[in-house]
Amino acid sequence: MIKKVIKQLLILSCTIKIIGLFFVFNLPTAYAKFDQKRLYITNIAIPTGMAALRAHFEGTSIKKAIIQSIFGGYIMQESMKRAAKIEEKSALYAWETKLMFNLGASLCESAGYKDFTFKMDVGPVWIINQGNDIKFKFGINGVMAPILHLTQGSKFDYKKSLKYGTMVFEKKQKKNGNLYGSNALAYSTANTFVTNHDGNHSGHELIHTYQYRRNCLYPIQIGDYWPEFTTKYFKEDKWVDDTGWFLNWSLQCGWSSWRNKDKDYDIPLEQEAYYMERYRKKWEP
Ligand SMILES: [Zn+2]
Repeated sequence: MIKKVIKQLLILSCTIKIIGLFFVFNLPTAYAKFDQKRLYITNIAIPTGMAALRAHFEGTSIKKAIIQSIFGGYIMQESMKRAAKIEEKSALYAWETKLMFNLGASLCESAGYKDFTFKMDVGPVWIINQGNDIKFKFGINGVMAPILHLTQGSKFDYKKSLKYGTMVFEKKQKKNGNLYGSNALAYSTANTFVTNHDGNHSGHELIHTYQYRRNCLYPIQIGDYWPEFTTKYFKEDKWVDDTGWFLNWSLQCGWSSWRNKDKDYDIPLEQEAYYMERYRKKWEP
């Protein structure tokens, strides 16, 4: 009972904190230029604030949690820079980058807990490793997103999927370069992305899939607000609640339409992905 109350309090306080941080650091400055400071805030400061809070509630060392999370956040940030160059690189480089990012995210996620848990999404499945125990679970968003792409007429591209370690789909291009059924050159929905036949903009879209992994660090999943979602419909023994990206993206899109801004360029998720493109060789300011 006490544990349950503590968990509820943790979720509540973390949620308040996240919403606070979101407003303080992201939304009011969302339309200012994304810069190095915001990169540190998004990848290192916010996960580390969360880790310190977790350590406080779990009764573990706050100092250790902070150090672990800063390290994890730094790895996430550096892997995002690598992801920007992915189109010109090999499959080995892409998989190394994905492993690095997931290691960074897992370090942040585990900071404040007694045990380290490694979590990585591969297509619709999550690999969860703690000590000698390995579990495989389905991601809720991880399963929904590819089904959605197939119903929208996208073709599964197994070659690009194997290269990038994420599910990639292909759509035909209109004369203006946009993909059919969309106003974008390429787009991502959480753990998946869609490009033209040549796979242009894969680096940018891959960064969005990493943002999806990063969103799993926070208590912003549907199940955090609607417990039946994971106790009744998508039970935790088989499913991972990875719906945080969807909530975050929807919130940011809502904000952009309220402020008459463009959701494809002006929201923080997009600004970060565009900012990262400078780490690609071909980038020209
Ligand atoms: Zn984008």
